[in-house]
Amino acid sequence: MEVAEEDQVDAHADASATGPLLRLRGITKIYQMGEQELLALDCVDLDIESGEFVAVTGASGSGKSTLMNIVGCLDVPDAGSYQLDGVEVATLDEYELAAIRNRKIGFVFQGFNLLARTTALENVEVPLIYGRRSNRTELAQQALQRVGLGDRLEHRPSELSGGQQQRVAIARAIVTEPSIILADEPTGNLASLQSEEIMQIFQQLNDDGATILMVTHEQDIARHCKRQVAMRDGRIIEDQPITERLRASEMIARMREPLPGSAGRR
Ligand code: ADP
Ligand code: MG
Repeated sequence: MEVAEEDQVDAHADASATGPLLRLRGITKIYQMGEQELLALDCVDLDIESGEFVAVTGASGSGKSTLMNIVGCLDVPDAGSYQLDGVEVATLDEYELAAIRNRKIGFVFQGFNLLARTTALENVEVPLIYGRRSNRTELAQQALQRVGLGDRLEHRPSELSGGQQQRVAIARAIVTEPSIILADEPTGNLASLQSEEIMQIFQQLNDDGATILMVTHEQDIARHCKRQVAMRDGRIIEDQPITERLRASEMIARMREPLPGSAGRR
């Protein structure tokens, strides 16, 4: 493997030049439910390289969100090792986890999670405030342009459609240029055209080099990704590349075609 000189210097801070971006080994999470123990993650091993676009699928309760919370440093495992960019994060304290989260992770949630009385621009600026970054407005504006909302900067969430709100959330996730974008059912609250528009943005970001890990229980959505990791009962039961990948731009074009016999109507 060829390693750029820059990366070798970086390797002192983290080992990103050598290992995968994400390396999980034996990750285990147990929830205590009164007397009972619930094994939400059962010894999960997973590697994700920079530039991948991975769908995590599985029935409700199979452990998808628990896995995302650990990968996103929102929660820590009860056992196992998790290295992000070569740094062991399974043993960090809350303060250190928060710092890593802000620097390396971009989150997109099913329910958008935007600040209600705040404009699109201000919502996207939030992670930059925590990160103490300068030129916040400019960066937020650029991120909103990347998701096609350059003309909606001053709109509040209530003045935007669900699909547009999710695009604001994606802009907020990418504005810090994270190492990985984590999305938990990002199309779960959206109709099919809006879902395709969200997947089009993710595909574009991935084409531009972003690493994306996305939870979905919809097979049609998973087929837009490049690799599918299927879970059941807290375990990975399948991990394979996606053949015959769907392109959202083609799906959207097809959806906008008039139905046969409905001449010109949409
Ligand atoms: P999924 O996202 O695939 O639907 P989750 O990761 O949310 O699954 O949940 C995995 C299992 O862990 C489920 O059985 C769920 O009920 C349980 N679980 C999740 N979060 C908690 C919690 N905070 N306390 C107790 N049990 C939980
Ligand atoms: Mg879930």
